[in-house]
Amino acid sequence: MSGLVLKDISKRFGDFTAVDHVDLSVPHGTFVCMLGPSGCGKTTLLRMIAGLDEPSEGAILLDDEDITPIPTHKRNLGMVFQSLALFPHLNVGENIAYPLRIRGVAKEEQKRRVDELLQMIHLPGYGDRPVAKLSGGQRQRVAIARALALSPKLFLLDEPLSALDAKLREAMQVELRQLQQSLGITTIVVTHDQREAMTMADTVVVMNGGEIRQAASPVEIYRNPADTFVADFIGSTNLLELSADSARRATFRGKPVAGLTLPAGLAKASVSIRPEDVHLTASGGDAIDGTITFIRDLGGTIETFIDISGQNVVAVSTPRARPDVTVGQKVGVVLPAEACVVLKQ
Ligand code: ATP
Repeated sequence: MSGLVLKDISKRFGDFTAVDHVDLSVPHGTFVCMLGPSGCGKTTLLRMIAGLDEPSEGAILLDDEDITPIPTHKRNLGMVFQSLALFPHLNVGENIAYPLRIRGVAKEEQKRRVDELLQMIHLPGYGDRPVAKLSGGQRQRVAIARALALSPKLFLLDEPLSALDAKLREAMQVELRQLQQSLGITTIVVTHDQREAMTMADTVVVMNGGEIRQAASPVEIYRNPADTFVADFIGSTNLLELSADSARRATFRGKPVAGLTLPAGLAKASVSIRPEDVHLTASGGDAIDGTITFIRDLGGTIETFIDISGQNVVAVSTPRARPDVTVGQKVGVVLPAEACVVLKQ
């Protein structure tokens, strides 16, 4: 397959397993974000792809070639790691030209390529500027241009935007994604910021404890989380313990969840339902009874907290669809069956 393939990759440090039997295919030209809590193994996995760490087991293939034994500088990679700062004594153009100079590319060609890369990162004419006189976002763009100078096959970035303030980071996420799409370069980014991953990625790889818990498109990860960890980690959700009656119909706190059955053999199951899918109605009827405990108006969204026999459930609505309720009021809570995702434990 053209692109990157990780085959049964593990990494152990002494007795500790940082990456545990990971398989992943990254088709050529796609953008993958590795996402997960601190210590889940995402940087270790990226370092193995880069050749900076050697896998304890498994193989790494790039365009069908086994690159596992190949040293970093021969893998044809572009890298932007948090620790790889720009050279402060070189100006912008010299920084970008550095990899070209090391490779012995002719001076004229270096200049042509630097100009092209400066255009690409929206900094035309900045070649002579000292890097000390750049803003944080501009520095990041220069680091990206330097990493792309040799037109690598694979572009690897570790938390590339984490040092930037929130507004700039959001703008740079869009820019990085557009740049990647225009170049069609296979790109892997490590991040702990789920919004960043959802903005940029074709495929989000959610890791925990050294394992991949789910690898899928952002929408699929959000709408169809594979397990309780992914459901809880991505966005906000209601995780509810449902039981099955004798006809496998799902019940919550003794009330049937209309239209939902649990898989055969499951007496209980955890179900994820996103707050925007929870509806409120008049109490009584088929809906599940609850009591409003708190209303949080965030301007753009309104969060309504409902107590259902000791379990807190959150419903989110837009201001236009604001439920006409007050704290202490009894309401009916509708959990639409099609929005309930039965999770693996
Ligand atoms: P973060 O978001 O905090 O950077 P991460 O998901 O990138 O976390 P890794 O840096 O891959 O996590 O580390 C995974 C685990 O492996 C951690 O528990 C870490 O302490 C351990 N680890 C990483 N490198 C080494 C090493 N060289 N020697 C021993 N343990 C290591």
